[in-house]
Amino acid sequence: MTVTGATKVLAVLGDPVAHSLSPAMLGGWIADHGLDAVYVPLRVDRGEAARTFQALPGLGLHGANVTVPFKETALEAASVHSADVKTLGVANTLAWIGGQVHAFNTDCGGARAAIEEAHPGWAEAAQRVLVIGAGGAARAMAFGLVRGQGPHVTFVNRTRGKAEEAAALMRGFGPTDAQDWSALPDAFAEADVIVNASTLGMTGHATHPWPIERAKPSAIVYDAVYAPLETDLLKAARLRGLRTVDGLGMLIHQGAMAFRIWFGVAPDTAKARARLLAILAARA
Ligand code: NAP
Repeated sequence: MTVTGATKVLAVLGDPVAHSLSPAMLGGWIADHGLDAVYVPLRVDRGEAARTFQALPGLGLHGANVTVPFKETALEAASVHSADVKTLGVANTLAWIGGQVHAFNTDCGGARAAIEEAHPGWAEAAQRVLVIGAGGAARAMAFGLVRGQGPHVTFVNRTRGKAEEAAALMRGFGPTDAQDWSALPDAFAEADVIVNASTLGMTGHATHPWPIERAKPSAIVYDAVYAPLETDLLKAARLRGLRTVDGLGMLIHQGAMAFRIWFGVAPDTAKARARLLAILAARA
């Protein structure tokens, strides 16, 4: 395509961003729809993050995704915040609308859309959700999964204080609590949905001897991590015959929601999955 002064510019902002799948996913959809737009990865220097994000409104991008570690900083760039963002204090999507920067959190809806796609009707039997982790992904997934349903959410996190903070955020939406890391086996036994929203199991990060033998036979095991696609947790769950959800679905659906915000059209999520699986296979 030819880039002109009219071409809309979108970016993923993070550090690191070199391995982000977003440029391939969003770039593929831009091409599918013949849009005059480009989507580029932009690594933001952590030491310059505050100044960079303060300057964003004047840059006039069409849209941006925000990834680790700037999902909180992104709020400072925005003057309009969606309800999800107000509750969670983290944004993953920015849109320049009518001269103002709007902040959204599409991880919430993306997490929910992915489990619904994989296991329709899952929510009917989900009375207890265990969320492992307490960072941005954990809070967004908990919020996305419980909204309007009312299951009990238990946060278990290496740092107990952060689990307490995450539980406090959820208190207006239903029953919730935080437990010590040592309570993980019992939390596995009680959960209808087990969510790993920590970095455990991610390529290059530590993993964990998950107490999968304690899980209910009816449990759904959902991992936010998508590299590798089948984490140690998902493999253990599959070998026990449990239902699973991988992290790629959430990535694709949160991206599709951002695409709809920016361009007003629903992109082809199945096509994106095929493209991203090919990229992940080439990297493996
Ligand atoms: P984050 O805010 O940095 O949180 C990281 C979490 O992992 C924290 O709860 C941290 O615990 C925990 N953790 C890190 N190392 C650990 C260890 N050795 N043992 C136990 N816990 C450990 O990151 P995030 O943005 O929430 O992302 C978390 C994961 O979700 C990442 O793997 C990311 O790729 C994935 N993610 C996926 C999607 C998707 O679309 N599929 C979207 C967003 C994120 P402490 O609080 O104790 O440090």
